[in-house]
Amino acid sequence: MSQVTVTEFAQTLKVPVERLMNQLSEAGITVSGANDLISEDAKLELLTHLRRSHGKKDPAASSPRKITLKRKSQSELRLAAGQGRSRTVNVEVRRKRTYTRRDVLEEQARQQQAELDATRKAEQEVHEAAERAERERQESLEAERKRKSEAIEAEDRERLATEKRRQEEADEEARRRTEEERRTAEDAAREAKEREREAKVQKELDQRKGKRKGAAPDHTLHVADGAAGRRRKKRTRRRAVNVSVDSTHGFERPTAPVVREVDIPATITVAELSQRMALKSTEVIKTLMGMGMMVTINQPIDQDTAILIVEEMGHTAKARKETGLEDELLIGADESAAAGEALPRPAVVTVMGHVDHGKTSLLDYVRRTRVAAGEAGGITQHIGAYHVETAKGALTFLDTPGHAAFTAMRARGAQVTDIVILVVAADDGVMPQTIEAIQHARAADVPIVVAVNKIDRPNADTDRVKKGLVQQSVIPDDWGGDTLFVSVSAHTGEGIEALLEAVALQAELLDLKAPAEGQASGVVLEASLERGRGAVATVLVNRGRLKVGDMLLAGQEYGRLRAMVD
Ligand code: GDP
Ligand code: MG
Repeated sequence: MSQVTVTEFAQTLKVPVERLMNQLSEAGITVSGANDLISEDAKLELLTHLRRSHGKKDPAASSPRKITLKRKSQSELRLAAGQGRSRTVNVEVRRKRTYTRRDVLEEQARQQQAELDATRKAEQEVHEAAERAERERQESLEAERKRKSEAIEAEDRERLATEKRRQEEADEEARRRTEEERRTAEDAAREAKEREREAKVQKELDQRKGKRKGAAPDHTLHVADGAAGRRRKKRTRRRAVNVSVDSTHGFERPTAPVVREVDIPATITVAELSQRMALKSTEVIKTLMGMGMMVTINQPIDQDTAILIVEEMGHTAKARKETGLEDELLIGADESAAAGEALPRPAVVTVMGHVDHGKTSLLDYVRRTRVAAGEAGGITQHIGAYHVETAKGALTFLDTPGHAAFTAMRARGAQVTDIVILVVAADDGVMPQTIEAIQHARAADVPIVVAVNKIDRPNADTDRVKKGLVQQSVIPDDWGGDTLFVSVSAHTGEGIEALLEAVALQAELLDLKAPAEGQASGVVLEASLERGRGAVATVLVNRGRLKVGDMLLAGQEYGRLRAMVD
């Protein structure tokens, strides 16, 4: 059934036999005649061929990519069913075959191939990349190794160079030494030769002498030996000295600390002090810090502290008396004063008291009313002191704060003030600085005249002031004491005249006298540098007469007196 003849197949296909024959031959299937059988495979072959030839003319899209053939074949099976009977069974075989177009397969194959290729390519790429990375790693490692080895080599080279240099130095040293030794040896040889020659000469001389005198020749040998011995000794000594110079310095560690006597003026800077003790200033600063004093190198420290430091450092301090020269001068002044006649002099008055109790106002009032009028040509320049004439005598007012005058007194040991006017405000009473002023005056043994000020104030209370001062043992004369009290007002001027008279009276009691001739001595109250005038000082002359052109000495400063203003 499955095999049909060409004619039958042509009938099935409904094509003429000839055409089928042609087609078959085109498909490469050889059939000899119309009655030839064609196999199933041949049929398929033909089909494929036809399709392909159609496909050439027609786009392949129309043809199915796959074809499924279903075939039924029936056959009869005769079975022997015992007892001489037979049975016939119809067997139907259904076959189904699916054919896929070749180009599709090819395409699939191509695709698979391409896919495979792509995978392989990707794999290869990955592989290559890995290889490259590995190669690079290797290269970098290699480079590193190379660098390291180069560094080591450089080091080696350096070390070698250093060694070589050292070797060269050593060689040089050795060469020098051998040279020296050679020279020494040469020297020695030369010396020996010389000695020999000398000895020979000596010997000859001696021999000649001996011939003349007939002395024993062995004596000369002895002399030559002695000379040689002496010389050798000398030589060794010199060499020994050389060695000592080479190896050690000439200084020796002091066995005991050097104790210096350090001269200390009234003030000294840290730097100066350190220099005088031959110490580093940092050490002195450190010591001062240890004593709780923070100082800088250029800071002046007072005499007492400096002495303490010097003792601390193990040296001895010698306090320099600043007034030494002045003292000498003062003695000179005393002598010259003794020669001159002592004349009455005006009392020097200072005004003291608590702040705001009216010191300045009082001084101002006195100057305004009693001095300004007397100022020749209306000269109004400020000078530190002024004269006031009263019915009972002349007074010199110090126009400086009282405490400054007293400080100057303490510093110089000179008497600046004869009388203190103690100003106490009637509305305020005795205050701390009032008490301080009393103490100053007492210490200097200067009498006090009390000016109870601001009596124009409604709340002024003179009695309160008196009581307060009594507590300080300043007893008013009307209460049985010896201190004059005057109630004043620096504003209205009330009582000022009475105050001046009281002061003059007090001055009279003091019986102040001073030589008006001879070398002058006194006290500098204030000093300043003024433009166009130079150093200006307010000086109170206690004794003698100060003239223009005199030399002035004050502390460490000195100069010539160029001009005076009274
Ligand atoms: P200082 O600090 O002792 O010199 O006192 P001042 O002379 O500067 O005076 C302090 C204040 O008290 C100023 O405001 C003065 O005007 C005032 N003052 C001084 N004296 C008198 C006075 O007699 N009467 C009155 N009412 N005020 C006075
Ligand atoms: Mg004042």
